[in-house]
Amino acid sequence: MLTNDQLDQWDRENFFHPSTHLAQHARGESPNRIITGASGSHIEDRDGTRLLDGFAGLYCVNVGYGRPEIAEAIAAQAKELAYYHSYAGHGTEASITLAKMVLDRAPDGMSKVYFGLGGSDANETNVKLIWYYNNILGRPEKKKIISRWRGYHGSGLMTGSLTGLELFHKKFDLPLAQVVHTEAPYYYRRPDAAMSEAQFTAHCVAELEALIEREGPDTIAAFIGEPVLGTGGIVPPPEGYWAAIQDVLNKHDILLVADEVVTGFGRTGSMFGSQHYGIKPDLITIAKGLTSAYAPLSGSIVGDKMWKVLEQGTDENGPIGHGWTYSAHPIGAAAGIANLELLDKLNLIDNAAKVGAHLNTKMAEALGDHVHVGEVRGEGMLCAVEFVKDRDSRTFFDADQKIGYQIAGELLKRGVIGRAMPQGDILGFAPPFCLTEAEAEEIAGKMAESVKAVFG
Ligand code: PLP
Repeated sequence: MLTNDQLDQWDRENFFHPSTHLAQHARGESPNRIITGASGSHIEDRDGTRLLDGFAGLYCVNVGYGRPEIAEAIAAQAKELAYYHSYAGHGTEASITLAKMVLDRAPDGMSKVYFGLGGSDANETNVKLIWYYNNILGRPEKKKIISRWRGYHGSGLMTGSLTGLELFHKKFDLPLAQVVHTEAPYYYRRPDAAMSEAQFTAHCVAELEALIEREGPDTIAAFIGEPVLGTGGIVPPPEGYWAAIQDVLNKHDILLVADEVVTGFGRTGSMFGSQHYGIKPDLITIAKGLTSAYAPLSGSIVGDKMWKVLEQGTDENGPIGHGWTYSAHPIGAAAGIANLELLDKLNLIDNAAKVGAHLNTKMAEALGDHVHVGEVRGEGMLCAVEFVKDRDSRTFFDADQKIGYQIAGELLKRGVIGRAMPQGDILGFAPPFCLTEAEAEEIAGKMAESVKAVFG
């Protein structure tokens, strides 16, 4: 057993952490936290500190920590058959069963599931399938993908390009040329304070149409969006947004990818965000909630329209040249089956809707009137608080003040994890679905204390 001091030293000397200030971490200037255990909505670190995880890891441990049902399913699968590949028609009972379970829950019109490992690779798969589709249809020019500023779709080459956050582009030579960005459906940041939600939706639609005209509709293959913007600030769409956007896409024969990595499997209080908002996607990206992060597994759910063309493509060209060694890994699939069964058995999606609404209500009661709170917003088990220097003009704080990080730090001192979102002073919450009303009240109460500690 390693002593804690050894772990700290080895961490700083050997471990390349994602999304971390590398130099400060290596020099020991920023804290590390070594997690040793977890149960329900709480995690525990090596110092014995117990924290209420208001972000479910990275909004992924949806059923909560420490579920023996999933651990046992993983162990049983590992003993019986730890691995076999899924190339050339091979499969396992677990991967085939999970594909059926996913499609049974998916919105209408979906045909098959391709399994990957994480959200980023699933979106890379989507982009390849979209390009293949248009090549098979004899439209080699129709290749660009539209995503939204503040969208998050991963941090690979194409997916980092689709992501509309500066941090993920800067110094990486991204975005790549085939990606174009359009307005974020972010009503709080509307260009004119007098705009109604419906007027703002019309503005987003006009921006999209202008972009399509500028680029040429024959060059645009697809539009990708999260039903609720996640990492970009937890922003539910304005009234009528998805219906109006889909009208434009249909008019120009542009495919729609619903990136449901966060919203899939219950986070909005519905099984899929697409069902929640009446979205009819051609592809759906799934990851996080598919296994509640008990094992890495993602998927691309392919709709009927695209599937027919993919079949035609292989009739014309032979087997599809796409696959990973670990596609449909049986251990991930076993975790997925046990996870989806638990969601049903414990009615966790209903709890996400009910306790998520309570969290949003309590947060609005605790902070809605504060002079530096611009907005409290959310949907299902998602909640965000946006801080501003001035409420009337919606002015940002100076970024150097790191207000979001300061509040997250105060909250942590009080035993609650909230996430300072990467762009703007926004505190995000996406707790496990098993959160209790008392825990929701604790999050809101400790947020009020933390805000007081920062602003006085
Ligand atoms: N898509 C969305 C909407 C996400 O929120 C994320 C991750 O947070 C991804 C894709 C990328 O997933 P991963 O980090 O598993 O690659």
